[in-house]
Amino acid sequence: MMCVGLTTVWGQSLNIESQYSPLNRQRSPRSSTEYIILHTTEGGGRGSLEKLRRFGEAHYMVDTDGKVYRIIEHRRIATHAGRSMWDGRSNVDNFSIGIEIVGYHDRPITNAQKQAVRELLRQLKAIYRIPDNRILPHSMVAYGRPNRWHRAAHRGRKRCGMLFAREDVRRELGLTSKPAFDPDVRAGRLVVADSYLERVLFGPSPVGTTTAAAATATVPDAPNVIARNRSAWDIAREQYNSPETRYEFPDGTVRRGNEISNWNRMPAGTVVHMGNVAEADQQREAERVQLIGRDGQTASEIAGDATRDARTIYFMGDGRVVQGNEMTEEEVNRLPRGTGMLVGYMHGGVISARRRAFDIVGPRWNLSTTFYRLPDGRIQSGEEINERNIPNGTMVFFQP
Ligand SMILES: [Zn+2]
Repeated sequence: MMCVGLTTVWGQSLNIESQYSPLNRQRSPRSSTEYIILHTTEGGGRGSLEKLRRFGEAHYMVDTDGKVYRIIEHRRIATHAGRSMWDGRSNVDNFSIGIEIVGYHDRPITNAQKQAVRELLRQLKAIYRIPDNRILPHSMVAYGRPNRWHRAAHRGRKRCGMLFAREDVRRELGLTSKPAFDPDVRAGRLVVADSYLERVLFGPSPVGTTTAAAATATVPDAPNVIARNRSAWDIAREQYNSPETRYEFPDGTVRRGNEISNWNRMPAGTVVHMGNVAEADQQREAERVQLIGRDGQTASEIAGDATRDARTIYFMGDGRVVQGNEMTEEEVNRLPRGTGMLVGYMHGGVISARRRAFDIVGPRWNLSTTFYRLPDGRIQSGEEINERNIPNGTMVFFQP
């Protein structure tokens, strides 16, 4: 399974080792490859490699010493981008390669990493004929579903890979162009929820600074204290209600994100302590069935202005599955605790003897972001479902 090799192309060498994910062979080949997405692991190499392998969440990982690991074969789908959109097309995983670079979105990478990433990009660009302006930081394509702070779908779900938008950093990676603006914001499909990120991604780079100084000087994260203009979301993003995120109130009491229900009453001065949340963990928490009473007190706290959207799916206590556009405002407001919700999802159809999961959602059928509602009411993700034993009558939901 493990093989160590040195690949030489055009006189350049890459120290690369296969550490394939157990999921590699189950992943379908992509039908097209048009983008390369650059990530930062937001955690150390060893732990990141283990998680990325376990969940098949990258094609490559580049460690701080410049060593490259293959995790998913580059022609197959890796689930690296999560909820994502670029130029009107969602699910960027379906047409991109993902490279995780060990490090942080606001810190320079090592010289060994720069050389390795540059060479890896050069090889992949040649294989797939990808122009430089289609090599994008993850934060450029990630987007968040509507929530209590941002009533519409928005850019700014994460800052992953943000430094790879900087022109000086790109130059060192052999990249000579980048997008000048966000096509989805311009078209009104998304709103900007992190104006600082927006400036880093698309604003002009400062001239005459060294990479190291520039990368750190221009990337201040929000201080981790809640203020009038700084919400729990601004600090913790989609980890805001995670049990790993702890809130220390001005009176000294400490509560975990999952123990807080009234987010409108968070006092200024509350300090937010986040666990060291690796990229792989964030990705996994991004998609799940949300529950009224757990993830928000009302449907609109979970789905923002999208409560009555056809792509907001409700799993009712009596077993019915209803789309948002099939309900009145009053019905939405009366939904009881425990009602399940998927935001930004489509009902693909029902499994039958002649219509299997692959017929309905294609290569996405076994991904963690596809959900199955079994006739007995249980809901399983594509990763959990037993392929050979999906009962007839199971409903399939996917991100369009
Ligand atoms: Zn990422």
